[in-house]
Amino acid sequence: MFLYLSFLLSFSLVLAKHEMYDGHSLFEIKIQDVNQIELVRNLEVPLQIDIWTYSQMDKKAVILVPKKNLEQFQDVLNRNDIQYNVDVDNIKRLMDEEDRLMDEAKKGSERSGTARIGFDRIYNLTEVYTYLEEVASSYPDLVTLVNAGKSFEGRDIKYLKISTTNFEDTSKPIVFVESLLHAREWVTLPPTLYAIDKLVTGNLTERSVLDKIDWIILPIANPDGYEFTHVQNRFWRKNRATGYMINDICVGVDLNRNFDANWGAFSSSNVCSEIFHGRYAFSEPESKVVRDILRTYGNRTKMFMDIHSAGSMILYGWGNGVLVPNALSVHTAGIQMAVAINAVKTSWNPNYIVGNSALVLYQASGLAMDYATVADVPYSFVYELPQHRNSAGITIFLVDPALVQQFAMETWEGILAGAKFVRDIYT
Ligand SMILES: [Zn+2]
Repeated sequence: MFLYLSFLLSFSLVLAKHEMYDGHSLFEIKIQDVNQIELVRNLEVPLQIDIWTYSQMDKKAVILVPKKNLEQFQDVLNRNDIQYNVDVDNIKRLMDEEDRLMDEAKKGSERSGTARIGFDRIYNLTEVYTYLEEVASSYPDLVTLVNAGKSFEGRDIKYLKISTTNFEDTSKPIVFVESLLHAREWVTLPPTLYAIDKLVTGNLTERSVLDKIDWIILPIANPDGYEFTHVQNRFWRKNRATGYMINDICVGVDLNRNFDANWGAFSSSNVCSEIFHGRYAFSEPESKVVRDILRTYGNRTKMFMDIHSAGSMILYGWGNGVLVPNALSVHTAGIQMAVAINAVKTSWNPNYIVGNSALVLYQASGLAMDYATVADVPYSFVYELPQHRNSAGITIFLVDPALVQQFAMETWEGILAGAKFVRDIYT
């Protein structure tokens, strides 16, 4: 009886978890020009739509629309002759399916405490931090765990320094890889964990990327937001900063609009927006941590890779569309990374494309990618991982655990190609 009750209880908790998304629909819309982009963007706050991806080239924009505003949203699209289709009529169905798949994957995959982590599902904050501590204590000659500061809600922000020379050989270039600046982009975590695993276990095809390069790997750049996506709201993107609005009706800053690089130019001053840029550049503790890493190691850091989702793209600055001065060389590095990923990607995902972020995607400001350029990192990129989809329709931010290994492996091939590019130029 007790078991039955606790089963019912946990079942209802899971349901309650995604209740707020019951009846929300995922739209695919075909945007024809910049006026239509502007029109859709202006609907964000009043209709509480959540723009998951913008359309670029032949891809459609993907937008989550709350149940209560479905009709009004469709009215606006119809009146403006914007073509659309409803891709998922109730997103909660897919969220429950993701939970089911993750729970299934979790059975029999308890962590063994041997400084290894599986690529069979998405691990939560506690599991990842435990793993980082195990790696640091198991490989003391190679790995240093750095507690870089506290998040808004007081969680530790932890990263690893991986080096055969304890970071003391200042002639070595550094490659800096970061994920989960945006909390809901779960699929970006396995690649950084995979990079750690490859580097520390020495399971490398090219040992020189470890001998000749020092690595900084920050797997969870936004710990409050990430934890929130696990326990409360799966589609949370920003950090969890409060105090921006009376009664905190809306909270959170888009950390990837909060860096001091053209801050405020192409972002929102409205805290209810998903691209709210904060009170001023570096108003948020999480972006400050990344800034301080770049300031401390900027002169040695030759490549920065900020991993996001989704769209199969490798992007470079500046976010406003002006090309970085060494754009030709940056583009070449991007191509090498894209080619490496495309060679091992799944057949159903499109090839990666490479380009300036504003030209390929949209104008944006306050980006971590651009701040790395400000901090003298010559090769700075955003990865947008593939917009995968499983047979049940799980797509974009939702993750099918069966695909985690593939995404980790193929993204690592890109990171590795980037590291080889750095090695060939700087060592
Ligand atoms: Zn992102």
